[in-house]
Order: sequence, then structure tokens, then C-alpha cells
Amino acid sequence: MAARRLSGLIPRSLYLRSLSSSVGSRGQRSSLRSEVQRFSSAAALEELITPPVKVNYTQLLIDGKFVDSASGKTFPTLDPRTGEVIANVAEGDAEDINRAVSAARKAFDEGPWPKMTAYERSCIMLRFADLVEKHNDDIAALETWNNGKPYEQAAQVEVPGFARLFRYYAGWADKILGLTVPADGPYHVQTLHEPIGVAGQIIPWNFPLLMFAWKVGPALACGNTIVLKTAEQTPLTALYAAKLFLEAGLPPGVLNIVSGYGPTAGAALASHMDVDKIAFTGSTETGKIVQELAAKSNLKPVTLELGGKSPFIVCKDADVDKAVELAHFALFFNQGQCCCAGSRTFVHESVHDEFLEKARARAQKRSVGDPFQKGIEQGPQIDSEQFEKILRYIKSGVESNATLECGGDRLGSKGYYIQPTIFSNVKDDMLIAQDEIFGPVQTILKFKEVGDVIKRANATRYGLAAGVFTQNIDTANTLSRGLRAGTVWVNCFDVFDAAIPFGGYKMSGVGREKGIYSLNNYLQVKAVVTKLKNPAWL
Ligand code: ADP
Repeated sequence: MAARRLSGLIPRSLYLRSLSSSVGSRGQRSSLRSEVQRFSSAAALEELITPPVKVNYTQLLIDGKFVDSASGKTFPTLDPRTGEVIANVAEGDAEDINRAVSAARKAFDEGPWPKMTAYERSCIMLRFADLVEKHNDDIAALETWNNGKPYEQAAQVEVPGFARLFRYYAGWADKILGLTVPADGPYHVQTLHEPIGVAGQIIPWNFPLLMFAWKVGPALACGNTIVLKTAEQTPLTALYAAKLFLEAGLPPGVLNIVSGYGPTAGAALASHMDVDKIAFTGSTETGKIVQELAAKSNLKPVTLELGGKSPFIVCKDADVDKAVELAHFALFFNQGQCCCAGSRTFVHESVHDEFLEKARARAQKRSVGDPFQKGIEQGPQIDSEQFEKILRYIKSGVESNATLECGGDRLGSKGYYIQPTIFSNVKDDMLIAQDEIFGPVQTILKFKEVGDVIKRANATRYGLAAGVFTQNIDTANTLSRGLRAGTVWVNCFDVFDAAIPFGGYKMSGVGREKGIYSLNNYLQVKAVVTKLKNPAWL
């Protein structure tokens, strides 16, 4: 295998512009593209760049120590560029979950974490964020190697976003307040907002770091201890982050990390009697299993962040060039592997044909290739299972007589690269318009009336997010109130500030993460009612 060294980065500002929802000038875009055109060919995929990082942590983290699994078993974690093994990682199962839960239980019941001052907890989280920033490029390289996402995206957006989230929740740690409640009678009533206890958290592979932060950040700020089960496809960056947490002074047992599979380690965590709360992000099907396991064990409260089939609505007054760019970003970002991907692009009939032509041209120019390469917009899909599933959906689109505008096949002969694909003439009841494809496949649908598109956009079992593109404030308001989704982005998409809540309506989930809303997931409310002996006014 030929190997090249990682070349320098494009400037952060240029890259962020290419990623962000606001579209850069034509000159900026075309210079970025011409720089990367040569890497979009299948031939370029054969020549691999050596990741500029080593894998140092592959064991489980239990009670402050990196340890082998009880069974001694390991499982391979793969490079999606090739399907080759990066490292063998300790495979946790029910026994390891027991060990991790005991450590978390002890750290909660007897250890310093819930008893520390909130300010001390906040300081540890801030020290962790500093260390993440110090190790930014190594963490990003590990994320790219294990997940396949473009290195520039990991280094310039995700790792900084990861640190930012911990700073945000560090800020909350000493601002969690109870209430004084004016009750009838001679009582002094106050509420104490206490940590819930041992939090079990199960995360997916599409944003391994951000999912870690969305779950671990609020849980730690509220004084809980944690057992985190990472996705079997992407165990590496969480272990690296765990090492930094220990360095930042996190006491043993507060954060335990078990790598392993869902039906073994994940199910053991969801059904554990000593776990006080479970938070899950993943597919709707698995979310149902997790909820059932929680109910059948100890009725632990559950938050679920699940699948989506989010509409992106381009109205008749849209600037078509900008709409094309934003709709492209809304779907293709992260190889289309976003639960909130704008995967049904509804376009008003008056601009439909122009939009379609430009959307096709944009997708054909998308730079796909080795994610360590400078300027790459799209890397490989995560694994063979997702890769095959996406190709099956593409086949189903063709068979149901949607028009394949571009793409439709794999790219190259190794790894899990898929050509940016667009279908037009898509009908609402086609499988490709109903199911979550989780890949680089844009489906374009035509609409006439705003009222009608609201009904059609809502005609799905999901309700995670929606995008609206219009210059008319009344249309924006009508759509954002009419759409049944946890987030509506107007003239922007995928804006994931730490303070903005995120979660789903309908089968897209239960509860909200991020922002102030997430704190409630990790707190119990205790009412303390004290009888007043001689109230002055009685
Ligand atoms: P995907 O299909 O995108 O991989 P999943 O919902 O299967 O999504 O996986 C998300 C997370 O849920 C992963 O960490 C996975 O290991 C875990 N998981 C899968 N099956 C189960 C299960 N039966 N119980 C608990 N967790 C599970």
C-alpha cells in the first residue's frame, strides 16, 4: 500500500466557510474545488495517507484504570478507507458492565464527585477542555482514522466543538438552583436538584466525540457518575478522551468506558438494576429495545435521540444558488450520516428545474476521497453494513422509478466510498422518501402550496429536524410552526451550538439534549417540606 504524509491544512476560515450554512463567494468556492478535483477520482483512493497518530488506548476504563475485559476478548476496529484493522480493542460484555457499574456506584455513593463543590467539578471539566485543545490534532486524526470523516472537519469543527461543550456545561455546574415554594400552611418548602446517580450512556458512531460530549458533559456538571458504552465501530477517541479526563483530575470511577457490542454490553447497561438513568442515541429500532430493557428492569428514566427523515423546504422566493448549496450541505455533510440530515428536499415547482440542474452539478463536483487529504468534503461510509444498506436503497430508488440524476454506485474498489447520489421525481410513499438511508443520497420532491408541503413534510414517523429556505418572514413563521420537528433551521442548517436544545418529536426520540434542557435529564427533584414551629404570622 502506497502511503503519503498528511499535507498542510487549508486555512480554517476558508474551510469553515465551505462547511457553514452561509455560502461563500463564488471565487472562494471555485478555488477550493479546483484544489481538490484531482482527489475525487477512484485512482486517488488507492493511495493512502498514513494517519499522523498512534493508537495508545485500547483497554476498558474502569475505576480510573485501563484494564482488559473480564473475558480477555478483543474485537477489531477498522479503517473505513480500506476495511483493514486499525487495532484490537478490549471487548466488554455483561461482566465488564457489572464491574463498571460497581465502580460508578461506589464513586457516587462514597466517592468525592457528588460531594465536591460544584466549582471544583467545574474546574476539572475546564481543565479537561484545555487538554482537549492541546491534543486537538491527535484526537481529530484518531477520529478520522476510525470514522472516515474528513480530517479538516474533525480538527477544525468537531474537536473544538467537543471542548466547547465541556466548557458550556462546566459553566452550569455551579448554577443549578432549586426553588423556594410558597405552599399553603405553616411550611417552609424548598426543592433540591440532586444528581440522579449512576448514568448509563450508549452512543453511536457517526459523531463519536460530540455524542460523548452531549451525554457526559451535563451528567458530570450535575454531579453524576457514568458508564459510557461507545459504538463498536468507533471506540478509539472516547478512550483517548478518558485518558485526558484522568489527567485533568477526574476521580476514579466517575467516568467508566466500556467498548463492546450492543446486544451484549449495551443491553446489560440498559437493563442494569444499579443504573439510575439511561441515555441513548442511535436507531429508532434499538431505541425501542433500550426503552423496553429500562422498563423491564428498574424503570430507570430514558432519554432517546433516534432516527430522522428531515425535510428541507426550498420556497419559491429562494435564491436558487444559495438554496442548492445549503440543501447539499444539509444532506451530504458527514457522508450523509446525520440523524437530522435534510434527506427530503422539497422544492417549489417554480424553481424546481433550475434547482435540480444546479444540485446535480454541485453533487458531481463534490470532492470524495481519502479523508486525510486536504480539501476533501466526503470520506468513506462507516462500514460494510452501512455501505451495503445505502446501495440497497439506491437500487430500490431505481426500481421504484425515481430518476437517478447522478451517482448511484460505489466509488473505487476498496473501502466504503459511495458516489454523491441524487434522485428526482421522488414520490412521498417511495421507500427512499420514507426510510432513513443514512448516506449520501439526496431525494428531491416537488411542491406547489405551503400548506400542502407542511402536510407532506409531516407525513413521516419521524420528527427530528427540518430546514426552511425562504426570504419571506410569514412563510418562515408558517412553516416553523407547522412542522412537527424538534429543530427547525430557517436559512441555515446543522447549527449545533452547545446552548441549543436538540431532540425529536414522534419516533425521533424522547427528551432533549444540550442547553439547559439536558440538565433535567440528570437531576432528581427533591421537595423538602419543613413544618414551621412558630410562624410569626399565625
Ligand atoms: P446503528 O444502526 O446506526 O449502528 P444502533 O442503534 O444499532 O445504530 O447503535 C447505536 C448504539 O446502540 C451502539 O452503541 C450500539 O452498540 C448500541 N446497541 C445496539 N444494539 C443494542 C441493544 N440491543 N441494546 C443496547 N444497545 C445497543
